[in-house]
Amino acid sequence: MLVADGLAKSYGRTRVFADVTFTVGRGEHFLVLGLNGAGKTTLLRILAGVIDADAGSFRPGANVEIGFYAQEHEDIRNGVTVLDHMRERANGLADRDLRAVLGHFGLTGDAAHQDAGTLSGGEKTKLALARLVVSRANLLLLDEPTNNLDPQSREAVLAALQHYKGTIVLVSHDTEFVASLEPERLLVMPDGQVAFFDEDALDLVELA
Ligand code: ADP
Repeated sequence: MLVADGLAKSYGRTRVFADVTFTVGRGEHFLVLGLNGAGKTTLLRILAGVIDADAGSFRPGANVEIGFYAQEHEDIRNGVTVLDHMRERANGLADRDLRAVLGHFGLTGDAAHQDAGTLSGGEKTKLALARLVVSRANLLLLDEPTNNLDPQSREAVLAALQHYKGTIVLVSHDTEFVASLEPERLLVMPDGQVAFFDEDALDLVELA
């Protein structure tokens, strides 16, 4: 789905990472680990095309559509309803189907007609993820998707992502969430080592 080769990024004289090389396979759950400041968000922003790398290249595979979940929810706008946000990404899905997806994420009933600008942080997270799931994206880049979520919403997000058939590149410190998504491999930033995921790696998730 993705081939990244020799990616590097610095801010001024501070090198965040250099020579990061990896591939992500179809349908894979690929975890990105690292301490605070290791460059996890920076890497996802590069893969999403939000910022450019200083060196190296990355190439999405043929027919890969990338969907990016960032923590800031910049793409959720005041004055536009929840359902209208879904319609923008819906590929012709009927409202009934869109409302069903919202329901999976715990946004039920009248929430569909609420001004998205008035949603809580956790509800915006749910809407942003629901939009990604109905979009054409078959490669999701998820940056800490369970931050700000109460336990019930976290369960809803987890269940929805477990049904998602596409590929996921995930940044998360949430040990239980990571374990439930069963990543196949992990990338450790800023060094860029790639390893298979196992139980021992869960200790790193908490630390990193
Ligand atoms: P992580 O997601 O692993 O916590 P980040 O990718 O957010 O790390 O940040 C990596 C480093 O790059 C940090 O030291 C951060 O301060 C720095 N950084 C990130 N974005 C910018 C920016 N726009 N300008 C300057 N420094 C930045």
